[in-house]
Amino acid sequence: MYVDVVLELPVDSAFTYCLENVNRAENALYRRVEVPFRKGTKRGVIIRAFHDKPSFEVKSVSAILDEAPLFGEETLELANWIKDFYLCSLGEALFTILPREIKEKKDIIPVKKTVDLLELNDEQELAVSRVVETIEKQEHKAFLLYGITGSGKTEVYRHIAAHCRKLGKTSIILVPEIALTPQTVKRFAEIFGERIAVIHSRLNPREKLYHWKRIRNQEVDIILGARSAVFAPVPHPGCIIIDEEHEASYKASDTPKYNARQAAFYLAAKNKIPLVLGSATPQIESFYHAESGRLELLTLKKRFAKEQMTDVRIINMTGEKGVFHPELIKKVLERINKGEQTILFLNRRGFVPYVSCNSCGESVKCSHCSVSLTYHKNKNALICHQCSSAVRVPSRCPVCHSEELNFIGAGTEKIEDLLAAAFPQARIKRMDFDTTRGKKGHEKLLDSLGKGEIVVLVGTQMVSKGLHLPNVTVVGVIDADIALNLPEFRAGERVFSLLLQVSGRAGRGDIKGEVIIQTRNPASYVIDYAAKSDYKNFYEKEKEIRRETGFPPFSRIVRLVLRGTDERMVEEKLRQAVLAVGAGSGVELLGPAECPLSKLNKYYRRHVILRGADIKPLLIYAKKYKDYFISDSSVYLEIDPDPFSML
Ligand code: ADP
Ligand code: ZN
Ligand code: ZN
Repeated sequence: MYVDVVLELPVDSAFTYCLENVNRAENALYRRVEVPFRKGTKRGVIIRAFHDKPSFEVKSVSAILDEAPLFGEETLELANWIKDFYLCSLGEALFTILPREIKEKKDIIPVKKTVDLLELNDEQELAVSRVVETIEKQEHKAFLLYGITGSGKTEVYRHIAAHCRKLGKTSIILVPEIALTPQTVKRFAEIFGERIAVIHSRLNPREKLYHWKRIRNQEVDIILGARSAVFAPVPHPGCIIIDEEHEASYKASDTPKYNARQAAFYLAAKNKIPLVLGSATPQIESFYHAESGRLELLTLKKRFAKEQMTDVRIINMTGEKGVFHPELIKKVLERINKGEQTILFLNRRGFVPYVSCNSCGESVKCSHCSVSLTYHKNKNALICHQCSSAVRVPSRCPVCHSEELNFIGAGTEKIEDLLAAAFPQARIKRMDFDTTRGKKGHEKLLDSLGKGEIVVLVGTQMVSKGLHLPNVTVVGVIDADIALNLPEFRAGERVFSLLLQVSGRAGRGDIKGEVIIQTRNPASYVIDYAAKSDYKNFYEKEKEIRRETGFPPFSRIVRLVLRGTDERMVEEKLRQAVLAVGAGSGVELLGPAECPLSKLNKYYRRHVILRGADIKPLLIYAKKYKDYFISDSSVYLEIDPDPFSML
């Protein structure tokens, strides 16, 4: 018989091959195959099987890789939705969803079933019953579960998932990658035992395939995972839950630039099941939709921990020379002497972020990207945080050859050094991208922090999530305003939620906690409201700014980035495209302009932003731009519907 095979290529068409010795479509469909393509072979999936001999010459499939179908029609529909919404090819969409391995490998299932559910309080009870009603009525509805950290959201998820199990349905629970700690897994595994699939990015492809098959064979009642778990091939989904729904990590940065949140909306609507978005600091868009009724708002106000309020202080660093304010040092020392633990948060890794020239004022830049290089002391090199390329530390300024180079600012590595000098008796550890590369790196650090072996932990945003440590009583935030001035409309919302989350690490036990926020921008409403843990007022203020500037939720956006190796050509081609394609009714066109990250990985980047009340006309125009560039191999157009990053 004959089959249409989709390959992982940015082309829209499938390729037809002949399949020998197979006569029935069900023995061919939805399996991966190896096929001859151009001069080599390529992997693909069969999406159609038929008997009529094509009028053109076809080659034979080299091998069928799956004995049983790897997916069903729903997955193909999902891939088509991704293709249409994110404007990629069907192949790119399918290979984003499907596991890439052929042989599976068993992944250890964590904990035995041991514990019962907790009895809910009234607020939790109401939240669970609203969601469960929707499941039972087989309706689609989207909820926003808004509650501060410790208000029992996770307990609500456990109850909802247990209800689904009773109905013979599977729940999908998404959490941000770094929140997928053993602590989180344990809370679900102790209810669901072995019938859980945990999907995170550190699984190797074989382990992923193992879980994929268990899910398809209905061997699990719950899927707990990061972004890509939304694509799990669940035969009978009961509900989808997205914890920390405001997190940027739900958005993919490679093509297709899908957002797991959006995919979840699509899947929940299609399967007539509820979607629950949980957060202590919802996206401005989410809270806005809760106000307008598009999301049903469920609120948890009470906090479970018997906790006394944490003291939060803002320290103005304007004019201060050092990295630490003396006040912070004093506090940390006090706590060390009492045998308590401290977390210091600085969202910048490496030793110093700029090596700058005294004569000409330039900082040393990456030769492939338009960013300054960070000095990493451990590696004794300057490293680009965009493209990871490393160079030796120069002895002279690359621009004017002056020998007067200054190392300016501080990253986590330097903080660790400074602390070791300030508190020689204390055990200090660092948790960031550089210290957690090994498979268990993150876990080991959390473990020894939990055991009290670490007295001061320094880290990037990795320290902000999933830590429940009763003995941590001080949290210090250094340079709280780092990301505040990025040219992105979400900058404020991101800094706000991060500050709240980090602050929440202090005082989770019996001792009153303290948070110290060092900033050179103490007047900023973002920092002020974060220090007061005042989401509502932050929301009101931010909403008005979005209204004035016309950004979401008051519009939708599709961002188009054109990149290429010749700067003038990229600029000229985008200008030409805008003249040729333009914009139509319902589409406002901003730009073209240089991207804030104007060069990345040797590519020069220019963008235009399409903005309008409704996404449909924006996608129609984005497609026109895509078609305009389709046969031009000297440039590449990235399409990003509902972008998170505008850099
Ligand atoms: P969140 O997910 O909102 O941060 P959690 O669900 O983790 O909140 O709950 C915070 C703490 O309160 C946990 O230790 C949890 O076991 C406890 N907790 C949650 N709900 C209840 C309840 N109904 N009764 C008693 N303790 C609860
Ligand atoms: Zn110079
Ligand atoms: Zn670079």
